[in-house]
Amino acid sequence: MKKIIYFILIICMMLALVACGKDKEEEETTPEETTPEETTTREPLTEEDYRRYGVDELNSAPILMYHRIYDMKNSETEYTGGNVDVDGYNRTAEAFEADLEYYYAHGYRMVRLTDYLDGYVDVPLGYSPIMITFDDGLQDTEGAEVHEDGSVTFSPNSAIGILERMKAKYPDFNVTATFFLNIELFNDEKGQDEAIIKWMVENGYDIGNHTANHYMIPDLTADEIEEEVGRVYKRLDEIIPGQYVNIIALPFGYPTDTSSDEKYQKLFEGTYEGFHYTTKATLLCSWMREFTIQHRL
Ligand SMILES: [Zn+2]
Repeated sequence: MKKIIYFILIICMMLALVACGKDKEEEETTPEETTPEETTTREPLTEEDYRRYGVDELNSAPILMYHRIYDMKNSETEYTGGNVDVDGYNRTAEAFEADLEYYYAHGYRMVRLTDYLDGYVDVPLGYSPIMITFDDGLQDTEGAEVHEDGSVTFSPNSAIGILERMKAKYPDFNVTATFFLNIELFNDEKGQDEAIIKWMVENGYDIGNHTANHYMIPDLTADEIEEEVGRVYKRLDEIIPGQYVNIIALPFGYPTDTSSDEKYQKLFEGTYEGFHYTTKATLLCSWMREFTIQHRL
């Protein structure tokens, strides 16, 4: 049987990151207590360097799962800390920008999720990797304007607008994020989805698979899973052939164990309308710290 790799997505609202003890271990790995050094040349690290800087690439790294970013101030929501719903899936624009400022100030530097899964973690010595994901594509491109030359401007308080602002402000933050889309893609109000997606992959962002209709996967048959997964890959392959990531963010985070039923093999390999697909990882959701696949394999 094909070896199934799966990966845990850490849902990490700022409350959890800042105040909640569950992520304390992550917080303690931030380099505030260490001294980041400017390194212009890449000398091979010695055993002593690894100890001194606490380098531990087999340990865990935060993957922060966002959903919709609302063009709101924190004071305009009835929830605390800039959350727009009781569970904190949705954040205000003010809170999202503050989240990013916090990560930067606390020594996190972004890496592409797909690179991380491949074991390629390129952050400067003394800094910690962090990954940002968005599920559902809801309003991520609200107010976007695609221009004749293919460039896109985004509303300043949209998810991508804020990310682009941080990219300009902190070039060494390595701003990137993975957007997991359903078959409606971003459902852009002006029908600009394809142009926006092309711009995104050319500007450091990744597009992944959140299944066609966001059904609860355990409720589906093997054939239905194949269609739900394959339809999105096929659509992405039409728009950005070979440039999307073969990663699925599981709707609602289920199944939690992809080895529990043979039908879940269709998450990892299948064929939809003649289009063959493979998946290298599926993401779960978790409030708890989990080890990376590098640790598991
Ligand atoms: Zn979702």
